[in-house]
Amino acid sequence: MTSTDDHGFATRAIHAGQDFDPTTGAVIPPLYLTSTFVQDGIGGLRGGYEYSRGGNPTRTGLEEQLAALEGGVRALSFASGLAAEDALLRGILKPGDHVVLGNDAYGGTYRLIARVFGAWGIEHTVVDLSDLDAVTGAIRAESTRVLWVETPSNPLMKITDIRALADAGHEAGLTVVVDNTFASPALQQPLSLGADVVVHSTTKYLGGHSDVVGGALVFADAELAEKIGFLQFAAGAVSGPLDAWLTTRGIKTLQVRMQRHSENAQRLAEYLSTHDAVETVYYPGLESHPGHELAASQMVAFGGMISLGLRGGEAAARKFAESTSVFQLAESLGGVESLVNYPSEMTHASVKGTELAVPENVVRLSVGLEDIDDLLADVKQALAAL
Ligand SMILES: *Cc1c(COP(=O)(O)O)cnc(C)c1O
Repeated sequence: MTSTDDHGFATRAIHAGQDFDPTTGAVIPPLYLTSTFVQDGIGGLRGGYEYSRGGNPTRTGLEEQLAALEGGVRALSFASGLAAEDALLRGILKPGDHVVLGNDAYGGTYRLIARVFGAWGIEHTVVDLSDLDAVTGAIRAESTRVLWVETPSNPLMKITDIRALADAGHEAGLTVVVDNTFASPALQQPLSLGADVVVHSTTKYLGGHSDVVGGALVFADAELAEKIGFLQFAAGAVSGPLDAWLTTRGIKTLQVRMQRHSENAQRLAEYLSTHDAVETVYYPGLESHPGHELAASQMVAFGGMISLGLRGGEAAARKFAESTSVFQLAESLGGVESLVNYPSEMTHASVKGTELAVPENVVRLSVGLEDIDDLLADVKQALAAL
């Protein structure tokens, strides 16, 4: 298949950037484990490839696949989600500039902006992104360059209005970035809602099998993509070919995985919301969730992430996280296997004591693709033990 532009999402996920090998007919394009490329005379490059920091065909295939899924003009694949964020911010910002970000942004994003970029003279303001007046009030006419959006947010599953924030950001001349890791392009496509750049930790749903760390940027604008592409080449945080290949393989099943993640999570969230030991269920698929209608309007389904606040406070949350068995206690999310995480000591330890701190009675579940009856039974026995 040569062009997949007119095809549906699942077809693009399988075929974009994934033409069969013309030499042998191999259905799966080869994994190009090579650092360099022979030249036909000085400067005589085959297909433009020279050295794998600048480009590698396996990485190119992944980048074409990602751009096709998010509806972008170009994608860049990085060694991790944070490497992608670093390159993007470094390409846009200079000392004295200012970033506006949400009050429950991913902890590592906050740490990067506050502690790494802060030391280079970049300022930031944290706001509740669901409060449009607070967002516009935080924008500084002379120095704000970036509005950083994450929806659903991590771990409290807040939903923010991408289109409204993109409009507000553009009115002030900002670059509007959406971290689409939790939804994945199968459920939400921020560029179509007006965002300028989509960020992914491909470690999560895109890779989908907890076997590779990676990140990506997808751009609506070719000029910004060119600028960040140069920075990626010059600074070097590219994904290796094996990592890119694993991510590509994961992406081919993204749509069916996201459907099942969402179905399992919905069933589990409904069960949890009836349990006496549970104070709050943070899941946008529940009608009681404050962002439910907005999520229904900008997402295809509600995804596989649930957080719950336990009535028994910190002690109950810790005990629950250590009492499940199908849900394994580990950081990260988005794999086929279910995971449980205690954010304030694990994924969000870096924001403890800051304005992004996570309530201590909160546990986060990454709902996997196991049988729903086993997931329900596991959660039930862990709650019974509290
Ligand atoms: C994991 C994650 C990141 C960081 O990605 P890495 O691949 O771990 O560097 C960024 N944003 C969100 C929402 C994440 O879950």
